[in-house]
Amino acid sequence: MYVVDVGPQYEGERIRRGEYHVEFGGPEVPRKGELVTVRPAAEVEHDRITVTGPDLKDMPPDSAQPLFIKIDVAGEQLDKDLEAVVERRIHQYINYIEGAFHMGQRNEIWIRIHKNSVKKGLDSLAPIGRILIDLFTAELPVIEKMSVEFYTEPAKVKSLVESAMKVYRERDEKVLGLKEEDVDEFYGCVLCQSFAPTHVCIITPERVSLCGAINWFDGRAATKVDPEGAQFVVPKGQLIDEQNVSYDAVNEIVAARSMGESTVFSLHSALENPHTSCGCFEAIVFYIPEVDGFGIVNRDFVGPTVIGEPFSSLAGLASGGKQNAGYLGMGVQYLKSPKFLKGDGGYNRVAWLTSSLKEVAKEVAPAGVIAAIATEKDVQNVEDLVGFRQRAGRL
Ligand code: SF4
Repeated sequence: MYVVDVGPQYEGERIRRGEYHVEFGGPEVPRKGELVTVRPAAEVEHDRITVTGPDLKDMPPDSAQPLFIKIDVAGEQLDKDLEAVVERRIHQYINYIEGAFHMGQRNEIWIRIHKNSVKKGLDSLAPIGRILIDLFTAELPVIEKMSVEFYTEPAKVKSLVESAMKVYRERDEKVLGLKEEDVDEFYGCVLCQSFAPTHVCIITPERVSLCGAINWFDGRAATKVDPEGAQFVVPKGQLIDEQNVSYDAVNEIVAARSMGESTVFSLHSALENPHTSCGCFEAIVFYIPEVDGFGIVNRDFVGPTVIGEPFSSLAGLASGGKQNAGYLGMGVQYLKSPKFLKGDGGYNRVAWLTSSLKEVAKEVAPAGVIAAIATEKDVQNVEDLVGFRQRAGRL
């Protein structure tokens, strides 16, 4: 018996400003995160739930707080490849809790706890740990032992996030070098249909999921361990559009899983039958007609983009599981894909990037192309961007 109700009926529940007792993470909190680690059975104390730092009942109402959720799991059939997949389910299972909302992943989590649920008794993070252990072990029997630790002290959260960033990076790097042509199947995910009912993620070796949490290897591991789960195998079939990269068998799966909402997905175009976006994307590609090019903004960028809209407004245009030509949610790692926006001209078509994304792009794009991309430090509006691109010989 839990202090609040639990079940899939609560997925998709929104908790607005003024309704939450506390929000953890989100744009106002610089350090937050969640990490699942597979460990040997002897190192995991099953059912251990701890809260280190102030708990829900100690926090002022309407405040934003740091949080790190550290989960250790063990099981004979569990291997490292499954860590990201298990981690992504934190999103699903916290959303099963009445009066709890979870958004994002990795070091970009955003959790809200409704005042009504706190009044009902959810005044500690510990019951959330209990619910997570019960749901994980019931729905993923490969998890034999599990512990959940919550940390809320800023300094501790900071150090845990710094360690986790190394793990996220290692996961991302694993897939570098593998090409779509090298594999026979891709993977799909519909975990976010609770928020965007017609959204389907297609994950290829050159296209990480837009939440950034699931790459091709993670998709493969997930389908092996839970074939009936939210991730599934997507046969490639025949390449029917080389420019934008579209496969016939992929399109059949997209049509079926989106309930007919989308029938053709270009895997590498933001303009021509673009991939849908739920709301969990790490970054948004947006078309800027004045320069016939794209801007790209990451979730933690504060302030207006070059077109005057902040991330949150653009997220409203990109999300919802519909194909929105000119808007595309993406994982930051997609910037490193050899097929990055291939159908639209790749980096040659990128006119504006936030300075943090430009640092990522520098690792892969030629120096001359990078020099022609403005950031918030170079231009503040579209008019200045036009001048910048003209001077760079791109207009
Ligand atoms: S964004 Fe895509 S891959 Fe990530 S959890 Fe949602 S549906 Fe799955």
